[in-house]
Amino acid sequence: MKSPPFSYIRAESLEQAFDLIDQYGEEARILAGGQSLMATLNMRLSTPKILIDINKIGGMDQIKLDNDKIVVGALARHTKVANSSDIKKYAPLVSKALPHIAHQAIRNRGTFGGSIAFADPAAELPAVSLALEASFVLQSRNGIRTLPAKDFFLGLFDTALKKDEIIIAIEIPIIKDDENYSFMELSRRQGDYAIIGIAAQGNIKSGIFSNMRLAYFGAGDRPLIAQNAINILEGERHTAEVIKAVEESLSLDLDPMDDLNGPASMKMHLARVITSRTLAEISA
Ligand SMILES: Cc1cc2nc3c(=O)[nH]c(=O)nc-3n(C[C@H](O)[C@H](O)[C@H](O)COP(=O)(O)OP(=O)(O)OC[C@H]3O[C@@H](n4cnc5c(N)ncnc54)[C@H](O)[C@@H]3O)c2cc1C
Repeated sequence: MKSPPFSYIRAESLEQAFDLIDQYGEEARILAGGQSLMATLNMRLSTPKILIDINKIGGMDQIKLDNDKIVVGALARHTKVANSSDIKKYAPLVSKALPHIAHQAIRNRGTFGGSIAFADPAAELPAVSLALEASFVLQSRNGIRTLPAKDFFLGLFDTALKKDEIIIAIEIPIIKDDENYSFMELSRRQGDYAIIGIAAQGNIKSGIFSNMRLAYFGAGDRPLIAQNAINILEGERHTAEVIKAVEESLSLDLDPMDDLNGPASMKMHLARVITSRTLAEISA
């Protein structure tokens, strides 16, 4: 299917983008990499009258170290983030997740900010952002606010982003010396959206877990933190009893849906499998 007709304007600055948002309101959509938006237009799931292309706004694709955090511009494309030596060193969980996003051609266009704004519950970066306790920098004509990832994802493709806001950057705390991380996903083929996945990071000192973050994708209507599992792990070692208790607790936190990949019960089983593998990897 082809998209319905729409107009297109390329904004040269944030100011111009905000002017256009004011002018067109609900009829406008921000265009970043276009890798999700164009598909939704072609399937006629969205029928905006105008696309506001933000790709030429200067400086929004930079990756910069800023004291104890790494700041990724919203327009940084997946390939650029994957190739960044700073990301590999200071946010290795992101590097580990990126090759699982779609295929190279899509990673060459898709952006970090676009993935966060689109908020697909099966996408990797929203869950990675939760596990890293990242924050999103949101700008409108009225100013800038910074929202933690945990407060951003509200439901199925639903976020706290206001109609007049643009995601400017993603702020990621850099990994600490005593932290370890792991990332796993199960999909039918490399590059497919995940059936289920986990992004995890936390402290592991003398074999004891603390401040763990277990974030799941494909496990509900949004990326989810398994808080009950995290509470069980706090101050514990990796033992068969602890892992069993964690696995059992997942049904309290995760809420997978039946879909073409299989029933919710299968996904819950797979969530337990990848959780125990992830915790074994983190504590090894
Ligand atoms: C075949 C295929 C397979 C894919 N597989 C995967 C996968 O396995 N995992 C995965 O995570 N993704 C996958 N994707 C999606 C891909 O990662 C996209 O890059 C991403 O979801 C959206 O980024 P984008 O820059 O292309 O955003 P766009 O498509 O341009 O925009 C998406 C939405 O976000 C809004 N938006 C974009 N940027 C901003 C911003 N800075 N501020 C405010 N709103 C904004 C747009 O208005 C739009 O509503 C796949 C896509 C395709 C086509």
